[in-house]
Amino acid sequence: MEKVLEIKNLHVSFDTYGGTVKAVRGVGFDLHKGETIAIVGESGCGKSVTSQSIMRLIPKATGRIADGSILFKGNDLTKLKESEMRKIRGSEISMIFQDPMTALNPTITVGEQITEGIMQHTKATKQQAKQKAVEMLELVGISSPKERLKQYPHQFSGGMRQRIVIAMSLVCEPEVIIADEPTTALDVTIQAQILELFRDIQRKTNVSIILITHDLGVVAQVTDRVVVMYAGKVVEAGTRREIFYNPQHPYTKGLLNSVPRLDLQGGDLIPIPGSPPDLFSPPTGCAFAPRCPYAMEVCDRVHPNDTIISEGHHTSCWLQDERAKKLVSTLA
Ligand code: SF4
Ligand code: MG
Repeated sequence: MEKVLEIKNLHVSFDTYGGTVKAVRGVGFDLHKGETIAIVGESGCGKSVTSQSIMRLIPKATGRIADGSILFKGNDLTKLKESEMRKIRGSEISMIFQDPMTALNPTITVGEQITEGIMQHTKATKQQAKQKAVEMLELVGISSPKERLKQYPHQFSGGMRQRIVIAMSLVCEPEVIIADEPTTALDVTIQAQILELFRDIQRKTNVSIILITHDLGVVAQVTDRVVVMYAGKVVEAGTRREIFYNPQHPYTKGLLNSVPRLDLQGGDLIPIPGSPPDLFSPPTGCAFAPRCPYAMEVCDRVHPNDTIISEGHHTSCWLQDERAKKLVSTLA
């Protein structure tokens, strides 16, 4: 499958009064044409920062991409000028946020907002843009689009507003959509409808989607592959099947135990005790060690390598690393 995005060894840091926070520490993954990947992890794991880096939306005053590359169609996005990046943002890679109201202007009709977006990024005339706006609303399942375009955001329900935001993200036919917790603010039924909408749009447009979420229920519904992040690093990645049915990293297992599963009846939900390390001075060893029921001495001292479990499935955990036995004997 054709690679659309290739992220390698990404490091992102923020300067704060307390010191430098290393929010993303060597993250890498690929995104292929027409696939959906989910980046999952607890808040503060670096999943949103990773997606903001792709859009180059890290606030300049405090944050920076300290190392690594983000290849998109042969260009390293980390090296582009802001003016070049502006052409990509919204038209080739677009982003959807959790709260649709942040993306919509409450004082302007939905129709004007969509047509404005179309005219900003394409050479369409006002009439063509209006026609396109109608098509887009139809694509995201809003009925009587012509009438609804005349309405203001507050005249739509939360789920409908998110559909409008998704329509806006699609107007320029982007290659990639990054959706950061797109359904978190919605109730479960609407959430399922929006996720189904993503699937439907993908079938029709072959767009690639990065879904950022802390909710494995969402992941189970729509993704092809899963990237699990912890303390600024990828700790496991694999197909949805591998992650759900053959998880290897204790953190992934912990996440799976802490969410309700429709396919697994019975059994109590077990939250993962403890909290992630602070990233002012990230641990030298495995960052999950203080919370890990399997932690060994080596885990605290040396960071585990990435180990390949099967094609496309890898994890960094000493339990899977053959060097562990040797190191344990030298540490003893
Ligand atoms: Fe647990 Fe050690 Fe694996 Fe980290 S490396 S997840 S501490 S077993
Ligand atoms: Mg976030």
